[in-house]
Amino acid sequence: MELVLSPADRAFRDELRAFIARARPAWLADKAERGIPFNHEDEKFWQKQLEAGGYGAPAWPLEYGGTAWSPLRCLLLAEELALHQCPRQLPYGLGMVGPILMAYGSAQQKAYFLPRIRHGEDWWCQGYSERDAGSDLAALRTKAVRDGDQYVVNGHKIWTSTAHQANWMFTLVRTSDSGKPQQGISFLLIPIDSPGLTVRPLLAIDGNRRFNEVFLDDVRVPVENLVGEEGQGWTYANALLQNERLMIADISRNKKRLARLRKLLATPRYDGSKASSDIGLMRRVAEAEVDLKILEYTTLRFMSEVEAGRKPGAEVSLLKIRGSEIGQALLALSLEVAGTAALPFAPTDQGANAYPEEYDGLLGLVEEHFFYRAASIYGGSTEVLKNVMARRLLGVRA
Ligand SMILES: Cc1cc2nc3c(=O)[nH]c(=O)nc-3n(C[C@H](O)[C@H](O)[C@H](O)COP(=O)(O)OP(=O)(O)OC[C@H]3O[C@@H](n4cnc5c(N)ncnc54)[C@H](O)[C@@H]3O)c2cc1C
Repeated sequence: MELVLSPADRAFRDELRAFIARARPAWLADKAERGIPFNHEDEKFWQKQLEAGGYGAPAWPLEYGGTAWSPLRCLLLAEELALHQCPRQLPYGLGMVGPILMAYGSAQQKAYFLPRIRHGEDWWCQGYSERDAGSDLAALRTKAVRDGDQYVVNGHKIWTSTAHQANWMFTLVRTSDSGKPQQGISFLLIPIDSPGLTVRPLLAIDGNRRFNEVFLDDVRVPVENLVGEEGQGWTYANALLQNERLMIADISRNKKRLARLRKLLATPRYDGSKASSDIGLMRRVAEAEVDLKILEYTTLRFMSEVEAGRKPGAEVSLLKIRGSEIGQALLALSLEVAGTAALPFAPTDQGANAYPEEYDGLLGLVEEHFFYRAASIYGGSTEVLKNVMARRLLGVRA
């Protein structure tokens, strides 16, 4: 990044650093330093800090309380937040439903929901996937039947991340069975505390409650919670998915992972040896670092095209695929270097084990390694995205 930053962008980055130093209290910094996972209260607190500083919704236009920064400046903020280990800004409100409401929502929906997202008053989850409708999302069966000025919703969503922390769910429901499967889908906003809606936990491989099942039994939703037109939900959702893929190229977190790996390589192992004397291992570290640099430049190139007014297309998928592969490689290398020393220190929702301070860099490594396998699945699986790119960019007919 240093190679391409203009003096103005460097000054901007210094401003961000000064803001983080001012806004991040010692208790939060200490938690981050020690690798103790942030909880939802920390995320809420941090969103309010960001909003108070004017950074709550950096990618949003000015008229909705955003900063209207260029994609590069948004990336710089994400990078600084990751490097300084601040709680992440969850994507569901700011990056997903917010932009959809701006583009397709009613005036009332925009006026009510957008400020509440920025201020961290509403927390959203994404209710798309169902048991037999993941990659093939158009197969979804959750039904919404119009009854006067309400929809009556019945169905079952799965893998709904953070539904146990959210108070709203944006969801895709079937409002018609006629025509192509894509045509009868609508985009509905449902309060999580609606009578008939039940959230049940699913534990992830790292032992944490990250996602849920959501059951909808005769849930009554006011018609004004429909976004845009009935039957147009597929179009809106596709616009949203491109945003999601752009956001999970994961450059910033991968840089952080690389920094941790470098620290681990410099730390002597229990028998006094250093992993950095292993030439084969160091070659793989160098390869991962080069791959990350290439991805960063590709992302910047891509962003400059977006800044020049081009809309993201199927090529966005490339960033997402490579970002998750590189992240997985960096985590696997870190675990290889740490070996069994990483095992006793995996934190869970129940808190971390006691650990000596010299192991700070290892806290959370095991759980992150296992959980990050999911990066090749959420937001579109690698195989499916490759199919999409082959069709749309290379013109391959399956
Ligand atoms: C950590 C995590 C968080 C998630 N959070 C959410 C959320 O908040 N909200 C939400 O709605 N969903 C969420 N999901 C669900 C996610 O969107 C789906 O898991 C994803 O779309 C894949 O669908 P599936 O799990 O049904 O797998 P399937 O679609 O059944 O795929 C199974 C395997 O088959 C492969 N495959 C499928 N179709 C093809 C094809 N045509 N060609 C080649 N290979 C194919 C896939 O790549 C995959 O390897 C989350 C998933 C994970 C892992």
